[in-house]
Amino acid sequence: MHVSRRQFFKISAAGFGTSSLAVLGAAPSEARAEVRQYKLARAREIRNICTYCSVGCGLLMYSLGSGSKNARAEIIHIEGDPDHPVSRGALCPKGSGLLDFIHSPNRVKYPEVREPGSKEWKRISWHEAVERIARHMKDDRDANVVAKNADGVPVNRWLSCGVLTCSAASNETGILTQKVIRALGVVATDTQARICHSPTVAALAPSFGRGAMTNNWVDIKNADLVLVMGGNAAEAHPVGFRWAVEAVKQRGAKLVVVDPRFNRTAAVADLYVPIRAGTDIVFLGGVINWLIANDRIQKEYVLAYTNASSIIAEGYGFEDGLFSGFDKEQGRYDRSTWNYEFDADGKVRTDPTLQHPRCVWNLLKAHYARYTEDVVANLTGSPREGFRRICELLGATSAPDKVATVLYALGWTEHTVGVQNIRTMAIIQLLLGNIGMAGGGINALRGHANVQGITDLGLLSTNLPGYVPLPSEKNHPTFADYVRKVTPAPLRDGQLNYWSNTSKFFVSQLKWFWGDKATQENDWGYDWLPKWDKLYDTLHLTELMQQGKMNGLIVQGFNAMGSFPDSNRVVQAFSKLKYMVVIDPIATETASFWQNHGASNNVDSSQIMTEVFRLPSTLFAEEDGSTVNSGRWMQWHFKGAEPPGEAKPDLEFLAELFLRLREMYEKEGGSVPEPILNLAWPYKDPLSPSPEELTKEMNGRALADVVDAKSGAVLAKKGEQLASFAHLRDDGSTLCACWIYTGSWTQAGNIMARRDNTDVGLGNTPGWAFSWPANRRVLYNRASCDPSGKPWDPKRKIIGWNGERWTGGDVPDFKVDAAPGSGMDPFIMTAEGQARLFAVDKLADGPLPEHYEPMESPIGTNPLHPEVVTSPTVRLFKGEKERLGTSAEFPYVATTYRLTEHFQFWTKQVRLNAIAQPEQFIEVGEALAREKGIAAGDTVRVSSKRGHIEAKAVVTKRIKALTVNEQTVHQIGIPVHWGWETLAKKGYLTNVLTPAVGDSNTQCPEYKAFLVNIEKA
Ligand code: SF4
Repeated sequence: MHVSRRQFFKISAAGFGTSSLAVLGAAPSEARAEVRQYKLARAREIRNICTYCSVGCGLLMYSLGSGSKNARAEIIHIEGDPDHPVSRGALCPKGSGLLDFIHSPNRVKYPEVREPGSKEWKRISWHEAVERIARHMKDDRDANVVAKNADGVPVNRWLSCGVLTCSAASNETGILTQKVIRALGVVATDTQARICHSPTVAALAPSFGRGAMTNNWVDIKNADLVLVMGGNAAEAHPVGFRWAVEAVKQRGAKLVVVDPRFNRTAAVADLYVPIRAGTDIVFLGGVINWLIANDRIQKEYVLAYTNASSIIAEGYGFEDGLFSGFDKEQGRYDRSTWNYEFDADGKVRTDPTLQHPRCVWNLLKAHYARYTEDVVANLTGSPREGFRRICELLGATSAPDKVATVLYALGWTEHTVGVQNIRTMAIIQLLLGNIGMAGGGINALRGHANVQGITDLGLLSTNLPGYVPLPSEKNHPTFADYVRKVTPAPLRDGQLNYWSNTSKFFVSQLKWFWGDKATQENDWGYDWLPKWDKLYDTLHLTELMQQGKMNGLIVQGFNAMGSFPDSNRVVQAFSKLKYMVVIDPIATETASFWQNHGASNNVDSSQIMTEVFRLPSTLFAEEDGSTVNSGRWMQWHFKGAEPPGEAKPDLEFLAELFLRLREMYEKEGGSVPEPILNLAWPYKDPLSPSPEELTKEMNGRALADVVDAKSGAVLAKKGEQLASFAHLRDDGSTLCACWIYTGSWTQAGNIMARRDNTDVGLGNTPGWAFSWPANRRVLYNRASCDPSGKPWDPKRKIIGWNGERWTGGDVPDFKVDAAPGSGMDPFIMTAEGQARLFAVDKLADGPLPEHYEPMESPIGTNPLHPEVVTSPTVRLFKGEKERLGTSAEFPYVATTYRLTEHFQFWTKQVRLNAIAQPEQFIEVGEALAREKGIAAGDTVRVSSKRGHIEAKAVVTKRIKALTVNEQTVHQIGIPVHWGWETLAKKGYLTNVLTPAVGDSNTQCPEYKAFLVNIEKA
């Protein structure tokens, strides 16, 4: 039977299925002519995870190669994994271009060095690279490591070498980096998370007890209202955003967006409200005021599960923009008055009637009474009706059977008040009773594929893995001091207060660091760990380089040149280093900061004396390992191909470098050798620790039989992997590198690689991968039930009390046998057991969020308190104040952002993405463009106090002028993705424009609100 294509479609439309037609031999002739050999014949299928954003989409990679030892496997095709519960086979434009990333012509293939003053790279062997780097490090460490501080406290601190780590590297690379750098005494270390989501941890942990996204991607579909603010999920997390769309389509949820730009999320929203960049606290503070004034509060939840009824100590106050205890000289608060009033037993005094004038509820009410609708409209520029409508929509979810979720990202974090932006939303979600609920929570949409994992692993100057603090010289001179100070006392009777177990997490970690050398007699090797004196964040590291106090910088997969603010200053800082080591799979601007690239980087190479090593590493497709997506899912990925040229895993380079340094200390002696000589290195091939070995160490194992103290039952035999962090001990009988990961690789095997996508209800797939902690999918889920144990909303039941235990589709985030009425409250990680509306003494800039203008303010005043315009606790290094502009010179507000086609500075090296978005541009509103004579497609010069860029102008209706404090404020949007190492058209680093000022708590830079001027070039 012959059927033409036209007839074929007619028949199909008439109701025949195409497959049955094909079975009947009725496929159209043209289609028959297109039959080709199955393109993936002879290919191996390997599972992996997208390396770009933290949605963590599943991949199927197809690799060619016989699998025999001499054959070199090569990835020939990548597509979405249809079984993956989050991505369900979808990939966004970035994920779709992954094959081109692997095969980018700009992959680094061989170790190279750029000699001081040279204009070019020179190929060297791995051996030479390791020898030269190790020699630099040994000499510098011997000269500069500090064994003891002035008080005689052992500090083992090496500050003249900095380390920057990647947020896309696997956990296994992260944990080995942690081990090696601490043995060397490095505390001047920071990671990508600092400049993106560090405020998330600092805001959510003081509010709820943990600093991570509360729910997960799929759970977004259970919301009745999705607020996207401080982020642009449709653009930056396209595949994860499908779950917001699902909520809209399947449940009739409302999707609302508040953003300076009418962005791609706004384009599909029910309601869009514009806002001036940097005024989110005003908007959200106004929401708090509205909710209280209009009685849209989930009262039972607030009273039972938050610290609303707790009484704050006498002496606390807030006046004219300052909280009590401000020291003007130091620019710092004495936070002692920001605390509870305690009874004789050290327990918090409360007033459940909420009448006490100093109970949190009344302080909160008074604080936000100032945030009236007039104030909101005046400062944010947002239209009143839009603001009111959002208040009403949020307020409706105070009903126990209605839930709102919020999706945010860097639009909230990258401000001098980043932490407090998030805190304001945390307060709102608590007032509405939306935390712990399916479809609720605060969903911090992380950026990089493993920014959550690397944050978990504590690659920061003040942290160890699992949010265990690195000892500080001031607070923890001895092991006993440390244990005493990091073990919180319960603040209310009957609470689980889980951080009281910190000594178990810490001693197990010390056993991982030092193995058999860690004994009770030597306090488990406590003194070999470095102790920190200050926070060494990215801005501080730049300052140390600038001052010539840092000699070496190791950069692992972090394009600091592109990412740090005030790029011109960063080039100067890097130029003062003696040596720099860049480990990356791809060419980056960081490695080539010394190269002249005309307008993009106009430097004189001959004057830059930094010796730069560029070392090729593997990327996601070329290694096994685990990454953690934004929803805390630890997902395992498998190696599918060999890396190009002589590239090799970071693990091998780290091992080789460390073992060479150890050999030097053994042969030559040197300063503070003990931590290096005593570091446990139990790997089968010492030069190549395997991901499996490292991930098992993160999970933890028994070093002796672990016995239940009550029943005498053996919980784990000596040598066995631990099943739960509840089995950790502080007597040296357990080893564990990262306690929150316990359960990820147990005696049952690799739990992270599980692929059971059975939906047990509400989209929950507990058999897929592993979600820390303890495979819990919705954090604080005890709060989804009322105090008597009944779900607030039976349709959203995730756990419940069955008369004996808490059970359900999710793992209870609670003591499973603590009955309702036992007095234990749901927020088990806080010493109160409750969530905090008032963040007591946890934050640098206030226990309640307050609006302060960005450091560069278009209105130059703060009508709420004109004497305190900007945050009083912002840290400014010498000379930074002079690098800040005013609205007289730079009248427009600029905000930076990401495009869906690009991922940071990586995808400009990827052909597909370079084609999709080939050239640098900025967005300018029609009114401003008219005023400045700028037409679409013109080249414009955008300048700030710190430098300028040139780019094409996109003149758009998407950004409207706002009226703020009776003046017109124009905003300009600037994507971040360009540079000189690129397959696209060369461009400027956007961060030439941004100021080097950070959040008062975490020093996350203010990339989202600063002042610029714009002219036609
Ligand atoms: S970039 Fe993000 S959304 Fe896109 S495919 Fe990768 S993980 Fe998925």
